[in-house]
Amino acid sequence: MEALCEFQVLSPTSLAGVLEARTAHPQAQLLGGGTDLVVNIRRGIVAPAVLIDMTGVAELRAIRADAQGLEIGASVRLAEVAQHPGVVAHYPVVAEAAASIAGPTHRNMGTVGGNLCLDTRCIFYNQSQWWRSANNHCLKTTGEICHVAPKSRGVCFATFSGDLAPALMTLDAEVDIQHAAGKRTLPLRDLYIGHARHDGSGQGDGKHYLALQPGEFIAAVRVTSTPGLRSGYDKIRIRRSIEYPVAGVAVALRRVGDTLAHLRVAVTGTNPRPVLLEGTEALCGGALDARVFKGLDELVRDQIMSMKTTFTPGHYRRRVAGVLARRLVQRLFAG
Ligand SMILES: Cc1cc2nc3c(=O)[nH]c(=O)nc-3n(C[C@H](O)[C@H](O)[C@H](O)COP(=O)(O)OP(=O)(O)OC[C@H]3O[C@@H](n4cnc5c(N)ncnc54)[C@H](O)[C@@H]3O)c2cc1C
Ligand code: SF4
Repeated sequence: MEALCEFQVLSPTSLAGVLEARTAHPQAQLLGGGTDLVVNIRRGIVAPAVLIDMTGVAELRAIRADAQGLEIGASVRLAEVAQHPGVVAHYPVVAEAAASIAGPTHRNMGTVGGNLCLDTRCIFYNQSQWWRSANNHCLKTTGEICHVAPKSRGVCFATFSGDLAPALMTLDAEVDIQHAAGKRTLPLRDLYIGHARHDGSGQGDGKHYLALQPGEFIAAVRVTSTPGLRSGYDKIRIRRSIEYPVAGVAVALRRVGDTLAHLRVAVTGTNPRPVLLEGTEALCGGALDARVFKGLDELVRDQIMSMKTTFTPGHYRRRVAGVLARRLVQRLFAG
């Protein structure tokens, strides 16, 4: 571990205070629980002179979860989400995802905003300053090539590994984004722009992975309840007690009689964005049979593009995602 650089911490207690601090310090970085950001500062990946602590902002700390809907402020702690009776009862995919993040101490510190905006990860990036320096850095920091894909033509494939985003995406969550002039709302899936297309046609990659403009921040995330939805989350990790996902899968489905009436599947830990699989509607309308599982395997194969950015090979992570998706769909359909 290395010494922390010098920085100033501002601790506003209201939204107006955050906006004021952002205007006064446009280069400042937001601080949730610091469980990712402080590690990156310590590793010399970022060196912000000013941090704006979001955890004391009263308007961002509310959580409401009932049969009608779910609304969680950006500064709500992960442990609170995991244990909230309304979340556990009505939005189990969200409670299960929150409960699976890191270890208990991280969940007591980590926030929803920090988890949704978690930096993307890579074995060549999440290293000490001297290690990265010895390898001439890489595109995501100050280097000129990508060590994972040297012919990537400027594209970074670092992996998004947050657990909450896929869970919320299967419920068609929306996210409130605050800026100096007001607020805008986006479908949560559109917050993530890390498409990382080799042909350069995508909007973003593992380096530019969020649709936030300078000065914007996450204020809250919201879900409108869908009656009859069953949902769940599962992940495979190297250390079961405290670890990012090798792959994580969220599923929400509706069963009517013996028919699969609705299916949403989202995957994390594989691409530079959490991926809400496109094309699951075509698998609905009939029994849960071999056709559905074959179709699901094909969607995972076509849309999950995992590279060698973690300790496990990319193709292994894609297979893990497929197996988890199949198992979860079976479990939830069975009730
Ligand atoms: C050993 C270990 C294991 C981990 N395992 C997991 C895991 O299994 N799953 C997982 O998802 N994560 C994991 N993490 C990462 C991290 O602990 C969590 O993702 C946590 O939720 C991050 O939240 P935070 O509030 O601490 O974020 P911070 O570190 O405070 O911030 C993270 C990023 O979000 C930005 N940010 C914070 N709040 C806002 C906001 N309101 N609007 C816009 N940007 C904002 C920050 O500027 C920063 O860039 C792990 C970390 C460690 C050290
Ligand atoms: S994938 Fe991104 S973080 Fe990893 S080596 Fe390539 S440029 Fe760096």
